[in-house]
Amino acid sequence: MDFSLTEQQKMLQKMAKEFAIKSVKPLAAEIDSSGQFPFDLAKEIGKRGYQGLPYPTQYGGSGAGYLSYVLVLEQICQASMTVGAIMAINTVPEEAIFRFGSGEQKKNFLAPLARGELLGGIAFTEAETGSAPQAITTMSRKSGDGYVITGQKHFVALAPAAKLTLVFAKREGKGLNAFIIDTSSPGYNVREPCETMGLRGLGTSVVYLDEVYVPKQNRLGEEGQGFDILLEAISLGRLGVAVEGVAVAQAALELSIDYAKQRKALGKPIAELPAIQWHLAEMASRIEAGRWLVYRTAFLRDQGADIKYESSVAKLFASQMAVDVARMAMQVHGSYGTMKTMEVERLYRDAKMTEIYVGISEIQRNIIANYLIQ
Ligand SMILES: Cc1cc2nc3c(=O)[nH]c(=O)nc-3n(C[C@H](O)[C@H](O)[C@H](O)COP(=O)(O)OP(=O)(O)OC[C@H]3O[C@@H](n4cnc5c(N)ncnc54)[C@H](O)[C@@H]3O)c2cc1C
Repeated sequence: MDFSLTEQQKMLQKMAKEFAIKSVKPLAAEIDSSGQFPFDLAKEIGKRGYQGLPYPTQYGGSGAGYLSYVLVLEQICQASMTVGAIMAINTVPEEAIFRFGSGEQKKNFLAPLARGELLGGIAFTEAETGSAPQAITTMSRKSGDGYVITGQKHFVALAPAAKLTLVFAKREGKGLNAFIIDTSSPGYNVREPCETMGLRGLGTSVVYLDEVYVPKQNRLGEEGQGFDILLEAISLGRLGVAVEGVAVAQAALELSIDYAKQRKALGKPIAELPAIQWHLAEMASRIEAGRWLVYRTAFLRDQGADIKYESSVAKLFASQMAVDVARMAMQVHGSYGTMKTMEVERLYRDAKMTEIYVGISEIQRNIIANYLIQ
């Protein structure tokens, strides 16, 4: 087994780190407190080619691969989980179109997404469910040479910025259909923003679909193939959330080390206390484990492997680890950590989000257990 990174990967990682520290980190607190979608930063990420890292050049990408994508995403998430999440969510429709799209769909939709010219979202969750595809009520009905979609989608991230959304809807027969919907279509309306505790500024909103007409050529995959498309594309979404978990935990560790060196108890830095040292050691070891799970999952995807199992394992572990590490970081910071002005307070809120969105931990456990006992 070779754990080394190529020179190209090391260079990408270095450049992403410089960008994250210089351009993302200074805006992280403001994005969190205002809850405003960072349009300019999202554009800049696109311009830098970060939205097309895994995809071939013929579809607007750079062909750098999934591990390169993960290395870049990790650096950006460490500066702001929200900004990294924009990149990670955009990859979900990209992956769906790359795996299931026709040549025409790849040219018309994947290429501009990968070139960073536009952003794409995914709309699966509804008021009654974010976990059970059988409970979806948004309906697709055949009409003329296309479909009419009616329903409501909740928690749609990137909604104010996305030019297209991958929408999952029930079909007239059994199963789900997946559609690439132009968000300027009549009847597609972004309504209430969702005021979430963490991942603020992600543009998470309720979207209404009132008789939205979608031409047949915008149905992704075969009639009724929506669930397969969801499972495949969401695996990459889960890998992205696992990366977010590792990154937010790393940021919490680094803050804790700095704080422990400068905060004094009984005249000595608290970093000299065994209790604090154990927290730091515990945090570091768990982060290492999460990071290698994530890198290995990306490496497997680069080999062309199915990563449904591995991405669920990585998401389950890394998200729980992020919550544990953020809790320990908060303990190291004492009362000061709970203050709104402290970065660790934001990390604590962001970390919790990784256990919930793109599939709750319970669903990850169900997926993993099904693989184990099949
Ligand atoms: C910031 C943010 C961004 C999001 N972005 C998007 C997006 O872009 N697109 C999108 O479609 N969705 C998005 N979501 C929605 C998110 O993915 C879902 O809300 C999430 O998957 C959980 O679904 P739910 O809230 O319906 O939980 P529910 O399914 O209602 O589950 C609630 C709780 O019940 C238990 N439970 C439920 N089902 C099971 C089960 N089968 N086994 C065991 N226990 C169970 C669990 O304890 C679970 O936490 C986003 C959410 C947030 C917060």
